[in-house]
Amino acid sequence: MIILKKVNDIKSYLSALTKTVSSIGFVPTMGALHSGHISLITKAKTENDLVVCSIFVNPTQFNDAKDFEKYPVTIEQDIYLLEKAGCSILFLPTVDEMYPNGIENLAHFDLGFIETILDGKYRPGHFQGVCQVVYRLLEIISPHKLYLGQKDFQQCMVLNKMAATTYPTLQIIICPTQREPDGLAMSSRNLRLVPEDRLLAVNIFLTLQFIKNNIKPGDLNNLKQNAIASLTAKGFKVDYVEICNADSLQLLNDWNGKTGIVILVAAFLNGVRLIDNLLIKEKE
Ligand code: AMP
Repeated sequence: MIILKKVNDIKSYLSALTKTVSSIGFVPTMGALHSGHISLITKAKTENDLVVCSIFVNPTQFNDAKDFEKYPVTIEQDIYLLEKAGCSILFLPTVDEMYPNGIENLAHFDLGFIETILDGKYRPGHFQGVCQVVYRLLEIISPHKLYLGQKDFQQCMVLNKMAATTYPTLQIIICPTQREPDGLAMSSRNLRLVPEDRLLAVNIFLTLQFIKNNIKPGDLNNLKQNAIASLTAKGFKVDYVEICNADSLQLLNDWNGKTGIVILVAAFLNGVRLIDNLLIKEKE
């Protein structure tokens, strides 16, 4: 694996390969890699001539300065895992390299409704930051395929919307959420959980499963409110438990029993914010 830190270096390296490489798969990450990230690399490797992974903790997508400062960094281990997975190129830029004109006047993306709900509501500016960094990375790497995790369901929808107008030839591939043996969604932020909270954290997944197993057509408010109350009683500070249309992400208070839906949770344990979701496919 080649490690490149400069925009000009990766651009010239990739442009020299255009005759021999017909498909570049790209996996953007913020590092502290785990098997969830690696599943994206593995998938990209089976579908492309070359796989580029980026590790960049993007300051513009953190609405909370403390969260940014405390974001885990495990670069030696990350390099080891990427080498082992067969990644071709690791792009490891600095903030100045990514944003040479500073971060104050970056482009604003018209994301509409999707930015006003769920993480868009609870993390103001977060999705603008996500779009800014991915837009810049796409401009540098010019991949054919972009690999994203379903774990960040709303982010996938946001990036789909951003890319549809700015990069219409890009294929976006959404990969399933990888979980720990107890069901907790793998996340770099899990590293920040103290042991007691790590044990508690699985309750997010159990709540999603409970809703999936108990959901019925009709009013959804009781199910949502009970889930919030149960997580709160266990020590979580809940941002939301929501049930949404899986295509539009419209929040649902009522379900017709047919529309494909997604259940989404965001909750804190001692300042560590965890998110997860489960899709319910259309019922027969
Ligand atoms: P991050 O480093 O958290 O920005 O994540 C980089 C990419 O990995 C995003 O597309 C995430 O959705 C994806 N990802 C993170 N956790 C998981 C997981 N548990 N399973 C699958 N993909 C994941």
